[in-house]
Amino acid sequence: MSDLAYVEGKFVPLAEAKVSVEDRGFLFADGVYEVIVAYNGCPFKLPEHLARLQRSAAAIRLPLPKDANQIQRIIQEGIRQSGFQNTKIYLQITRGAAPRSHPFPADVKSNFIATFRAKGEVPQETRKEGVSVITTEDIRWAKCYIKSVALLPNVLANQKAVEAGAFEAVFVTSKGVVHEGTTSNIFVVKNEKVLTPPRTEKILHGVTREALLQCARDAGYETFEHTVTIEELLQADEVFLTGTTIEVLGVVKVDGKTIGVGGVGPVTKQIYARFRQLIES
Ligand code: PLP
Repeated sequence: MSDLAYVEGKFVPLAEAKVSVEDRGFLFADGVYEVIVAYNGCPFKLPEHLARLQRSAAAIRLPLPKDANQIQRIIQEGIRQSGFQNTKIYLQITRGAAPRSHPFPADVKSNFIATFRAKGEVPQETRKEGVSVITTEDIRWAKCYIKSVALLPNVLANQKAVEAGAFEAVFVTSKGVVHEGTTSNIFVVKNEKVLTPPRTEKILHGVTREALLQCARDAGYETFEHTVTIEELLQADEVFLTGTTIEVLGVVKVDGKTIGVGGVGPVTKQIYARFRQLIES
């Protein structure tokens, strides 16, 4: 088992993979990405991830250098060669390498890279006890539905969470509207109703978020996709985060305030159990 990269059309050990210092991803964050997890060699929700990649690329007018079938073949081969039981697959496409100048370079091929590493597991203890989060002002741009590699506000907010001893920072507007975490979507449970912010341009349309809404409905809960306020977050019975690598993680504290009874709630547990069944299947 070894960390692997796919660069310039070849698989190489990750430590040997290189891109140009003139890559526009490096110079301008001019690119998009995806993170996919494969369980036992099988990528979870791959069509959904590839469709989002296509939407992100189209939104920044970046032609994908490979079609979905080609990307799928690279993913399968990377999983096979890296040999991990559960693999975290990172895809990044940038507008290629060219002398630094803002407009799109003419006749430059976009750069497709992929990496394959072991999927890190959330410690059982953390999953059982839940996590704390902080809130932070959403200072990001207006098109957060694009999975752009320009993640500086997310980096700064996530670091703020780490320094506060929290697992995640949740972006909230100056008017108190809750958007999402730096690497996750957020859900609130109140009176057995499951609520999450709507699919506007202000949040990433999480693949896990979508799967979770379905799991919640399958479990018999009513789901709502509408504005969540900071008050609703603080007064929730349960709060949880969703994301490709964390799956579903209960939140027990927001800005130091205990949520509900201070443990991972029964609705969160039930919906997560359904989600695990989906993964197993
Ligand atoms: N929101 C943001 C800002 C993210 O970066 C991510 C994942 O990286 C998510 C939400 C969750 O999306 P997904 O469930 O597709 O991993």
